[in-house]
Amino acid sequence: MEPGASAGRRYLLKTFGCQMNEHDSERIAGLLEADGMEPATDLDDADVVVLNTCCIRENADNRLYGTLGHLKSAKDARPGLEIVVGGCLAQKDRDLIRRRAPHVDVVLGTHNVHRAADLLAEARATGPITEILEASAIEDHEAFPSALPVRREQGHSAWVTIQIGCDNACAFCIVPTVRGPEMSRPFEHLVDEVARLAANGVVEVTLLGQNVNSYGRDLALARRRAGDGRIRVRPMFAELLRAVAAVEGIRRVRYTSPHPKDLSAEVVDAMATTPAVCEHLHLPLQSGSDRVLAAMHRGYTAARYLDRLATARSAIADLAVTTDIIVGFPGETDDDFERTLEVAAEAGYDSAYTFVYSPRAGTEVAERTDRFVAAEVVAERFERLRTVVERSALTRHRGRIGGVEEVVVEGPSRRDPLVTTGRTRQNKLVHFAPPAPLRPGTFAEVEVTGAGAHHLRGELVTVTATPLRRARIPVTAG
Ligand code: SF4
Repeated sequence: MEPGASAGRRYLLKTFGCQMNEHDSERIAGLLEADGMEPATDLDDADVVVLNTCCIRENADNRLYGTLGHLKSAKDARPGLEIVVGGCLAQKDRDLIRRRAPHVDVVLGTHNVHRAADLLAEARATGPITEILEASAIEDHEAFPSALPVRREQGHSAWVTIQIGCDNACAFCIVPTVRGPEMSRPFEHLVDEVARLAANGVVEVTLLGQNVNSYGRDLALARRRAGDGRIRVRPMFAELLRAVAAVEGIRRVRYTSPHPKDLSAEVVDAMATTPAVCEHLHLPLQSGSDRVLAAMHRGYTAARYLDRLATARSAIADLAVTTDIIVGFPGETDDDFERTLEVAAEAGYDSAYTFVYSPRAGTEVAERTDRFVAAEVVAERFERLRTVVERSALTRHRGRIGGVEEVVVEGPSRRDPLVTTGRTRQNKLVHFAPPAPLRPGTFAEVEVTGAGAHHLRGELVTVTATPLRRARIPVTAG
């Protein structure tokens, strides 16, 4: 395809799902803009609509087909409108999407994000295209969205995908099926990318992967298989944290998500002794019942989880801890759920993403309808868990009142444009009203004066650093 084949056309990009998907969307936007396209303000203004789908969240398929139905009417009225469906639902349900929505021009999967602009041009010339690649068939620069052009809204902060896929087999999760086995991006590529980001004004990076703390195990194994008998097969995540944090200009390093069974002493030590690594650990619990954890194939018990958490808390001063918990996993009894409440209370989370179990076709437990928990029981458990988590969150947040926090400004609050929102090292949102607007990326010290379960309130003490460069990085090859 000639670069610029889509020049002047306008695209609208809608993202469903997690940070990995948001990051893929940044790259899709970057590719389309590198091809000469511009962002549209709304559907009426768009020549191309891209839906980047997710099959992990509840009702993802219903929401996708609802959106595609709406787009069918728009396309009937404007036949030139092009529709692209990408992401993990497309990877999983490619044929179904074709059958239910023949008006879609391009269906692409999770492993060929880099082909978005090319496929669009090909579909324009030859008609609808479905292209889904298997992870094993692709090269590094094609597999990882971080290696592609980017269009990033926040200039000071960036996501960096360090690994895709997952080698675990949690009974509720579709990720290993749609994203394939773990594949780590080479260490030097990552450090180089972070150095490039820092040179462009990025001060905060979040390392992304399905199971970040096993990063590098596959790379070591590949070297061993290639004949390097000296190499020890082990994760390299602790070294990566240190290397990324050492890049000049990087002031904050975050990561998500680690697996509790792989939270090693080396990673905890790297967090404790590397000043740029933020004091926040997102450690998915999923359930507090050993019986349910075993049925989920999580690879740890509640006691082992709490033990690792205690180790991390004692090593890392002022550590904020968040988690994911599923309520109503098939076969979860009242007693199992009581264990979850106990562990959540003991863990004392700063916040938790609590999910009602919903079956994902293709996962181990999705067919066990005989073990599904009644909806009203799940709803009641969900509320009880929410109460426990909010209680600990409020206690922790109130404990911060009177302290001074370093925040990085994200921009005006969504509810009140006169209020500015910043993020602390512990990943908490702080709302405060500075006397004059502060640009995103500004570092400031804020005294905490109030607290809710989901945010802090404060007063500006002083601005400590302003962003060196403009807040939006233009399209670049990464
Ligand atoms: S660790 Fe489990 S929940 Fe996480 S991506 Fe892998 S299979 Fe899914």
